[in-house]
Formats: sequence, C-alpha cells, structure tokens
Amino acid sequence: MKHTVLDNISFKVDLDRLFRRIHLDPQSEDAALVRNMAAKAEEIGRPKAMYKLSAIDSKQQDHVIVDGVRLSSRVMKVNFENINRVIPYAATCGRELYDWAQGIEDMLEQYWASIIMEQALEEAIKHLNMHLEERFKLGKVKSMNPGSLEDWPISQQKELFSILGNVREAIGLELTDSFLMIPIKSVSGILFQTESDFESCQLCPRENCPNRRAEYNPDLYKEFYKA
Ligand code: SF4
Repeated sequence: MKHTVLDNISFKVDLDRLFRRIHLDPQSEDAALVRNMAAKAEEIGRPKAMYKLSAIDSKQQDHVIVDGVRLSSRVMKVNFENINRVIPYAATCGRELYDWAQGIEDMLEQYWASIIMEQALEEAIKHLNMHLEERFKLGKVKSMNPGSLEDWPISQQKELFSILGNVREAIGLELTDSFLMIPIKSVSGILFQTESDFESCQLCPRENCPNRRAEYNPDLYKEFYKA
C-alpha cells in the first residue's frame, strides 16, 4: 500500500492557551503583537501528516521486519507480538510555518512562534488520529517513536522514513545528518494496536522531563521485555 498524505488540515491558533503558555497578559502591549503573529500563522500555516498501513513481515529476537525494512528494537518485537500490521506515520507543523519562523530575529518572538508551531503540530496529530479512527476503526493504539528509548535509537528514523516513502516530497519533512527532523516541530513513529497501556516513558529513566506521560518503572524491562 502507498502512503496517504493529509495536507488539508485547518489550523486556528488557540489564543487563550497560547497566552497562558507564554505567560502573557492578553491585555498587555505585547499581546497585540502576538495576535498579529497568530493571524499570520493561520494565514500561511499548513500542518500535514502522512501514514502507511504496513505489514509486519517477521519478528525476531531483537528486531522486526516491516514492509521489508528492518527495525531494531526488542521492545518493539514484544509490543508487536500479537499483531500483523502497524501504521508508520509522520506529522509536522509544516514547512510554511518553519520558514516563517526562520525569518524572525527577535528571540522572544522566536519563542512565541515556536509555541504557535507546536499548536500546528498538535492539530496535525489530532487530524491524523481522527482520520485513522474513522478509516480503520483501530480502537486502542499506542505509539513507538525512534529515539525515545535506547532500545530504538534515533538513527532508526532513516528506516522509518524509508518505509513511509518520499517524506520530503509528501509533507516537506526531512532528516538532518544526526536524524533530527526539519521542521523541528514534527513527530514520527509507529502506531500499533494493543490492549496494554504502553508508554515509552515507563521504560525511560530521564529525570525532570516536561513531557513525561507515565511514571518510570525500573523493573518493567526486566519483567516484560528482556529476552
Ligand atoms: S520521559 Fe520524556 S524523554 Fe523519556 S520517553 Fe517520556 S517524553 Fe521521552
């Protein structure tokens, strides 16, 4: 199956949430500037996402083969135990907003732009999830993302992108030599159906992570994932 591109995603900045996030009084002088930036971002912003319904060809001790591509992760092998298809995906705030933000020189405005771009990325992810639910009725799904665990390193972005196809052409998203994504407000991963409450954070010991979604369980790998 070829990848599917979602590039008709409407984007409206949630100003209340934005002001709260950047700790700015909506009545302040700077607020007018932020409103102008938000209006510009809505005018040019084109959040996008893509995905591919992919077959798991085989599962080995420390890797799985998805659409002919080897993904090296023991955790993935265990997580994919009872399924035979998965959904590699990527979502981004879009090149348009990235290029716009690149042209901003003031550091505070750059920060505001980055939060606006985060909202655009959230919109792309929300749209992707709704589309997948409508189209495939997947039920409960979880995601694995390259680089979130040592077990599935960030260098595996390359393999993930090769499953998706020409990601740059499809949604303007590209990888640097160190496997970071440009635009930076982007996310990539593999969605899989599961009855479990898997979150990478359960296996990640990083302290004070602002994005933590689940408590670290130091015994989980040994008890559930170790070969
Ligand atoms: S704790 Fe933070 S760094 Fe670790 S997997 Fe979760 S979000 Fe990623």
